[in-house]
Amino acid sequence: MLKLLKYTKPYLLLLALSIILLFAQANIDLALPDYLSGIVNTGIQQGGIENAIPIVIRQSEMNRVLMFIEPDQKDSILADYTLVDHNSVDFQQNLEKYPILANEPVFILNNINQTEISRIDPIIGKALMAVASIEGIMADPSKAAQMGPGLGGFDLSKLPAGTDLFALLAKLPASNLTQITDKLNQKIEVLGNKIINQAAVLEVKKEYQAVGLDTGKYQNNYILKAGAWMLLLTLISGTIAIIVGYLASRIAAGMARDIRRDVFSKVESFASTEFDKFSTASLITRNTNDITQIQMVVIMMVRMVFYAPLIGIGGIIKVLSKDSPLAWLILIAVLMLVSLILTIFSVALPKFRLNQKLVDRINLVSRENLTGMMVIRSFNKQKFEEERFDNANVDVTAVSLFINRLMVMMFPIMMLIMNTLMLGIVWFGAKQVAAANMQVGDMIAYMQYAMQIVMSFVMLSMMFIIIPRASVSGDRIAEVIDTDPHIKDIENPESFPSVFKGDVEFRDVSFRYPGADTNALENINFTARSGQTTAFIGSTGAGKSTIVNLIPRLYDVTEGVILIDSVDIRKVTQHDLRAKIGYVPQKSSLFSGTIKSNLLYADKNATDEMLYTAIDIAQAEEFIKSTDAGLDTEISQGGANVSGGQKQRLSIARAIVKRPPIYILDDSFSALDFKTDSALRRAFKEKSSESTLLIVTQRVSTIKNAEQIIVLDDGHIVGKGTHKELLENCETYREIATSQLNKEELL
Ligand code: ADP
Repeated sequence: MLKLLKYTKPYLLLLALSIILLFAQANIDLALPDYLSGIVNTGIQQGGIENAIPIVIRQSEMNRVLMFIEPDQKDSILADYTLVDHNSVDFQQNLEKYPILANEPVFILNNINQTEISRIDPIIGKALMAVASIEGIMADPSKAAQMGPGLGGFDLSKLPAGTDLFALLAKLPASNLTQITDKLNQKIEVLGNKIINQAAVLEVKKEYQAVGLDTGKYQNNYILKAGAWMLLLTLISGTIAIIVGYLASRIAAGMARDIRRDVFSKVESFASTEFDKFSTASLITRNTNDITQIQMVVIMMVRMVFYAPLIGIGGIIKVLSKDSPLAWLILIAVLMLVSLILTIFSVALPKFRLNQKLVDRINLVSRENLTGMMVIRSFNKQKFEEERFDNANVDVTAVSLFINRLMVMMFPIMMLIMNTLMLGIVWFGAKQVAAANMQVGDMIAYMQYAMQIVMSFVMLSMMFIIIPRASVSGDRIAEVIDTDPHIKDIENPESFPSVFKGDVEFRDVSFRYPGADTNALENINFTARSGQTTAFIGSTGAGKSTIVNLIPRLYDVTEGVILIDSVDIRKVTQHDLRAKIGYVPQKSSLFSGTIKSNLLYADKNATDEMLYTAIDIAQAEEFIKSTDAGLDTEISQGGANVSGGQKQRLSIARAIVKRPPIYILDDSFSALDFKTDSALRRAFKEKSSESTLLIVTQRVSTIKNAEQIIVLDDGHIVGKGTHKELLENCETYREIATSQLNKEELL
């Protein structure tokens, strides 16, 4: 999987952009619960008033507040306000907002920064509470008892109702007043910052009412503003999600394309050895299904692998920074989630590996079935094949079911953990709210963070599901890409002599198929001369095809050397070598297209005249002329719409179009009748008299006139010579010949 990392290189910029966007999105998403808690705490519970600092306060009330503020703080606090009265420039404008201005001047808060707000908030908060206590006593002297005896030497309860306590306090010497303030502050501080703040906010609200400010509107404004922000942020977050989705798809699709291209070109460079090793079915799965898995995982990774930790860790940091009494609940849930994921991961990983192997198998069985459908039918083996497919299918189903059951189990467990967590937050949170340690909005925000954290784990667990799967796929793809083709060009290749004859010489050649126990060919020596026909005959499995497959280097010799015009074929490039050879394999294949496009495959510049000559030699003329479209007759995939004999003739024609100096015809006449066979050979001999012709065949009649016949048996040459010579001195040949020809024909 890691080996495929290099494919991200062209997309690093897009990846970086995605990460930046995801970072922004995570920040926005983490900010949203704060806004919600703001709406509940400040908007609903505090009437939209955020802190204890009134934005407007009557001059008389300000004077009362200032009485309870340390002398060294008074000036700085007054400096944060501007006094507005009849003479002020903006009097009219403010009168509309604050009708009390008609009767008395007001202080309006300047535009102050957050540090200043945090600094003066507790000072004004406490002072407002102190003022409220005194006002409370003035309204109901019996409350004085609660203040305890000896407040600055007064027995407040004895004062006549309606006494202006503030006026009395103002007359006191400074030291006395400080004493009273300290005493009041002590009583207030016991309540704790949160309660002081909430209570002070109520005082601010009362002041706003006294000033004539429309508090309902003020509250609505706050809620609407916070709501609008939330909406805007959500929109931005949504837009980012769409952009990242787009980027992820681009990156993934691009990478998949690059990998597919590399796998394909690697497979093209494979020799038969590698095809034997991987099997065609597996190569197809690897270049389709496996790459799709990678593509999917890249999309998921780009979208989640960065986002999930950002949200998860960000959420945990937010929760801890709130100094909330419920952090332990979240920690327990996180621990449970981690152990759940690890357990499931360890059980599922081996199954993913197995699953991919079984998919390979089902592909193999399907391929064999589809290509061999006619044979299956003719042998009435449908039932048998169905069972074979069924077995493969049942295996895949069992593993898939197991994996899916695991996954299906995981999500409800995660949901259970999440819901229990929610319940815990409400249960313990409610107690904290009752004890005024927490506000309702905080609890709601807490629930949202909890949800975000759990969701990040859900996302991570999804990654854990798909990453192992993709890593299996990644390994399988890397295996193909990393395979060094068995047959390679050497560093400084030689070239064939400029005057090319085409003599093929096998010198002490032995060959063993990779993984086989015995040699398929043993000590083969012969020379096939240009202008001559060299034929190979022998029983099936004797090694005839193996010999000719060595010439275009479909395999390399194990021992010995093959020379063409005295040049070792391993010393020239495969391209140069194959350019000299016209090879018609045992199982020739045509490509979908027309007859013409198939013939042009050999030489795209060939003229129609050249094509017709080739067709003529290959004895395909009659059959092509019999079709309406002639050269433009459609050929379906694999040449399924032409007969075996027609296919062989077209394949031979294709090889002739190339006009190579060396022809290899591997049992290419097997589907031709004797008459066509001999006509073809005659035409071939006439038109290509210069070429080296190597023919593999089972028919003695085909090669009777060959200059050289090589008789093979079990990988050994048991006879070499002309028909006549061999009849005399090669027992194996004689046996083959007499079994096929009558006495007259033998001569
Ligand atoms: P012929 O063409 O004479 O019928 P082949 O050259 O195809 O015979 O096969 C020669 C021997 O090599 C046989 O025993 C066959 O089983 C073996 N053989 C052929 N192809 C392979 C292969 N791809 N891997 C392993 N053994 C092979």
